[in-house]
Amino acid sequence: MPLHIETPLVTSRPLSLAAGRQVTLKLEALQPPGSFKIRGMGAACEWHASRGKRRFVSSSGGNAGIAAAYAGRELGIAVTVVVPETSTAHARELIRQQNAELIVHGKAWHEANALAMSLLTEHDAFLHPFDDPLLWTGHATMIDEAVRQGDRPDAVLLSVGGGGLMAGVVEGLRRNGWGDVSVIAVETIGADSLNQAAQAGERIALDAITSIATSLGAKQVCEQAFSLLQSHPVRCVTVTDQAALAACERFLDDHRILVEPACGASLVLAYANAPALANFQNVMVIVCGGATATVDQLRAWRTS
Ligand SMILES: *Cc1c(COP(=O)(O)O)cnc(C)c1O
Repeated sequence: MPLHIETPLVTSRPLSLAAGRQVTLKLEALQPPGSFKIRGMGAACEWHASRGKRRFVSSSGGNAGIAAAYAGRELGIAVTVVVPETSTAHARELIRQQNAELIVHGKAWHEANALAMSLLTEHDAFLHPFDDPLLWTGHATMIDEAVRQGDRPDAVLLSVGGGGLMAGVVEGLRRNGWGDVSVIAVETIGADSLNQAAQAGERIALDAITSIATSLGAKQVCEQAFSLLQSHPVRCVTVTDQAALAACERFLDDHRILVEPACGASLVLAYANAPALANFQNVMVIVCGGATATVDQLRAWRTS
């Protein structure tokens, strides 16, 4: 049994009306730890467990850390998550709920990551949040399911942080004979490392992350995501934080599911019937989810 669940693929009436075309939703927000991350993380953790690793180590204060903690508890393997002081109280609580050891260290992520690296022994596995082929192969299972659940879409709409989700989705499309389905890759301004790399024609790193969508906050995308710009039909789009927040609220009203701005970013395009959708009649949105935003947090961001 894999650690992720099979999620519903539903046609959204409100989003289809807003977008003027059929919009289906792959509801990854319903995964037990709150995001699609458990697909890849679960697969990677099982792989390491079967090779005798006795502890999983992560330096993600977001959904990757939460998924690693969930996977460890399910597999009966110890987990240590090192997060920086900037991580939210809510995210820390979610990691603790999974019985993981939580270490708060450093002012920024690179300091937390350095400590995590220093802890590693031969019995430990380090789980990267997005740059690992094991993760992509696990993420690809969402497309295996979609192939069984519904019709072939013309485009898949998804959010991009470090590009692991995109790499996994394209792997899934290709292994199911859907390799010509376009990908619309959405980022928030201030976390748009893929978009800026596409414009520059090289895998540049952002100086800083200035978006509230911290789950998209990778300063540099993985090599695999960057190379897919050449080998797959990918269109990069950016949206504002405020648009992403508004989409989260509207989605909560429409579908009763609370998602992070990282996920709201993708929903913006459907709600706005964005020009990027023009050539597509049937669009599948990966509702990637995210467990770290609360209603209070969304409201506070809206008024700040
Ligand atoms: C991790 C994450 C993303 C981005 O995934 P990448 O693999 O880093 O591109 C998007 N949304 C949510 C909710 C996430 O947790």
